[in-house]
Amino acid sequence: MDLSEKTFNYWRVLRPSDGKKYYYDCECLKCGKIYQVYQNTLKNGKGKMCRACAGKERAEEQREIHQEIIGKQFGRLTVTGWTKGKKNRTVYTCDCACGNKTTVGYNELVTGKKSSCGCLRKDEAIKRIEQTYEPMYKKQKEAQIDGTIAYELDAKVSKNSKTGINGVSKTNKGKYRAYINLARKQYHLGIFETLEEAKQARKEAEKKFYEPILKKYKDK
Ligand SMILES: [Zn+2]
Ligand SMILES: [Zn+2]
Repeated sequence: MDLSEKTFNYWRVLRPSDGKKYYYDCECLKCGKIYQVYQNTLKNGKGKMCRACAGKERAEEQREIHQEIIGKQFGRLTVTGWTKGKKNRTVYTCDCACGNKTTVGYNELVTGKKSSCGCLRKDEAIKRIEQTYEPMYKKQKEAQIDGTIAYELDAKVSKNSKTGINGVSKTNKGKYRAYINLARKQYHLGIFETLEEAKQARKEAEKKFYEPILKKYKDK
């Protein structure tokens, strides 16, 4: 059956292609260019127009989808625009409620995997630390213990400790490793040649980590 003069989606069939069985010369009605199109492609509707026009159409559809998401809020993030990231992947530029700017992939955004620039996780970590230490500080307050020894409340020297100092352990190579535990997570502070240095590092970390929390509860 000759398909000449028929129209399939955006293809206008002109004539059977010369010397190419099952192919037709067709005009893409979107751009007016002539292509040789396989007859089944016309009939099954899989190729509705030429590749170039289909690509443009897809890009336009995507643009609309992206455009729709602009201005929307996902957790702490507000979408301000979109751009092409690695591997031509679309990423959204977002303003975070904390004032930072960040870029997020579509899936991370709509599934809620990412809902801040990273500040949310930080805030949650602080909250966890506070929750862990709150009972300790309460106890301390009730007992009217001087705040300066509150650090030591954390300091149950491990029975296995070879150094006798909380937060400092001896390495196999005879050096000293300092660490601090916060909300059941251990933070490595460094490896030191002498016990004194490791002790110092631990003291500084205590000051840095515990003092702000301690201050908060003292001020209550
Ligand atoms: Zn076209
Ligand atoms: Zn943020």
